[in-house]
Amino acid sequence: MADVDLAVIGAGLSGCALVSALRRNHTFDSMVIFEAGRGPGGRCATRRRRDDALWRLDHGAPTLSFSGSPQGRLGALVGDLCDRGVLAPDAGPVFGLDGDGALCELPAHPLLCGPRWRGQPTMAAVAETLLADAGDAVFTCFGERISKLSWEDGRWLLPGGWRAHTLVLSGTLLAHPRSLAMLGWPDVPLRSAVAVGVDPGLDAALELIAVMTASVRWNLMLELPSVTGDPFSSNPFPRQIWLTAEARDHCGVERLVLHQQSGGRLGLVVHGLDDGAAIRPDTQPDLLVHHENRLLAVLPQLLVPWPALQAALPGARSLGVMRWGAAQPLDQALPRSLQWCPQARVGFCGDWIAGAGFGMAEGALQSALDLAETLQ
Ligand SMILES: Cc1cc2nc3c(=O)[nH]c(=O)nc-3n(C[C@H](O)[C@H](O)[C@H](O)COP(=O)(O)OP(=O)(O)OC[C@H]3O[C@@H](n4cnc5c(N)ncnc54)[C@H](O)[C@@H]3O)c2cc1C
Repeated sequence: MADVDLAVIGAGLSGCALVSALRRNHTFDSMVIFEAGRGPGGRCATRRRRDDALWRLDHGAPTLSFSGSPQGRLGALVGDLCDRGVLAPDAGPVFGLDGDGALCELPAHPLLCGPRWRGQPTMAAVAETLLADAGDAVFTCFGERISKLSWEDGRWLLPGGWRAHTLVLSGTLLAHPRSLAMLGWPDVPLRSAVAVGVDPGLDAALELIAVMTASVRWNLMLELPSVTGDPFSSNPFPRQIWLTAEARDHCGVERLVLHQQSGGRLGLVVHGLDDGAAIRPDTQPDLLVHHENRLLAVLPQLLVPWPALQAALPGARSLGVMRWGAAQPLDQALPRSLQWCPQARVGFCGDWIAGAGFGMAEGALQSALDLAETLQ
């Protein structure tokens, strides 16, 4: 048995920002963080390649979007990360594309309203840095997807013999019935761990979480050969290309994101929308192939304003499709008053907590700072 003060499930932006803030405030002496992925980052992760040590592709969120200039503790955090060179303003050109494949005004979208910062050298560097800031106060368990939770005698029991006084979930997977179908789990682990009536706040939170929806993304990753000369004189090299609502409905694509690589090569991520087909362990392999084929087919018509990019497509290499299960939450948020459930000592953080930045990186960071303050 290893006893710790706090166990955090999820090493995305919010989980890493939480342990970093708790360490800074000296709130807990010992923490453990569990993460299903191979490293920190979550939806702000970066895809690397075994066959190419220099390849880095931000295949989830390409940028940290804010609703306005960050203030207070959030402003201080962003300022600190900028001073340390981990964040830099994301000034790359962003274009709008209409249903005829022509350039147009940017569509209205919360992710495009305020300032944006980009992780340096990659998006994953933001969560990596926050986690490193927590130092040796936090143990890390990567590649460990928690599927069972127990709460006995005021202690949370976790795989590997870990016991924690306090538990924080940074995602909704362990609290949402979608895991039953999507992962074939027999129950909702958090609901099974704490009986109804023990913590009225937790009961209310679980009820609200159960009806939350998120829009799934199928992101196609491509390597494009280098584009030589100055082929972008008519339209500057795009960083992001956002489709209008009409174009989105027609193509099933939200946006295209370009990521320059070493040696002049380009990484291109096509953010594909979901079509509602049931995602289960047995359907996922076919769905990945289906989305790869449909996104490859639609791509040439989306690059018409950039002939040099369009011309590079025949030499493109597909690096497959990544399904983002916990994509942007839609309209339901967990009220901040339910972010901490004191009887069961369970907390929540993530971009699905209500407040400025809901559904975006800003909300993930803000929710972590808010919870850290509550736990102080
Ligand atoms: C395709 C895409 C594009 C986006 N674009 C933008 C953008 O342009 N601007 C912007 O601001 N935001 C964007 N976002 C949203 C942004 O990525 C999120 O707001 C932010 O990364 C959320 O961080 P988080 O820590 O709340 O959640 P997550 O990053 O989802 O972290 C939760 C972590 O918990 C882990 N986890 C969950 N359950 C378990 C379990 N049972 N066991 C172990 N580990 C578990 C997950 O693996 C994950 O790493 C985008 C998101 C996606 C998917």
